[in-house]
Amino acid sequence: MEKLAEITLNAPALFDLTGRVALVTGAGSGIGQRIAMGLAQCGADVGLLDRRTDDGLAQTAEFIAKTGRRSVEIAADVTSEDALADAVTRVEAELGALTLAVNAAGIANASPCEDMSEEQYQTLMDINMKGVWLSCRAEGRAMLAHGKGGAIVNIASMSGVIVNRGLSQVHYNASKAGVIHMSKSMAMEWVDRGIRVNSISPGYTATPMNTRPEMVHQTREFESQTPMQRMANVDEMVGPAVFLLSDAASYCTGVDLLVDGGFCCW
Ligand code: NAP
Repeated sequence: MEKLAEITLNAPALFDLTGRVALVTGAGSGIGQRIAMGLAQCGADVGLLDRRTDDGLAQTAEFIAKTGRRSVEIAADVTSEDALADAVTRVEAELGALTLAVNAAGIANASPCEDMSEEQYQTLMDINMKGVWLSCRAEGRAMLAHGKGGAIVNIASMSGVIVNRGLSQVHYNASKAGVIHMSKSMAMEWVDRGIRVNSISPGYTATPMNTRPEMVHQTREFESQTPMQRMANVDEMVGPAVFLLSDAASYCTGVDLLVDGGFCCW
């Protein structure tokens, strides 16, 4: 048996992100914004990317400054490979070698399949699926180049696992199933080069995405369909992201972590 004095376990330190540098897409609102704030509270400096032109990014940056960590605000679109390459270059120049990334930028909308235009389908796919791949590619290239390894978390959805009752969003559901499987595929490509890739699949979460006018009347239904009988608070996505990015998850790669109040059990 191992001698007690030889056991070096320090469980709280496993979640410490001090000295790490992260890039978060969708950092100007909702889940991405709150995760970016949480990463800073755990010690990381954070690059903040979003296409929003309101004060979302500035608010995230202000919160991070109060934690004593640094951030860089980047107004960019995840469908542009040049913008993503520039973003990674800027983050590394201003904050240091990138070893953490969360890809949360995404959109949602709905139309019956038979009425959906090709443009509606393609625009969503370009952001939700290709945008995640382009983001991972830019982040992975930097992580492979500096050889310090890394951890990436992509925000998928329980809609990539189940079909949401009453929501006609064939393109959204397919994009999220794509993110889950893409994450597993990249995890396997990079498994021997020190980069872990996992996804989080949130259930219904109270963010601006779910306060769109067409969604408000469905809130009660979302709550009653969920075993926990409520939507997630956006803070509840932070712990799972910190876990998957941190050394606490050093043996986790290719995992899709459902954070859904039990939704997919029923
Ligand atoms: P949100 O509050 O709307 O935040 C998403 C952010 O991403 C917004 O600031 C949005 O800007 C930005 N964004 C969208 N397209 C972009 C692009 N092409 N380039 C750069 N930034 C872009 O929504 P959220 O609920 O936090 O969603 C975050 C992620 O969680 C999404 O991938 C979503 O699918 C996923 N998710 C959400 C829920 C939920 O119930 N809320 C459940 C499961 C999964 P705009 O406002 O300009 O679009």
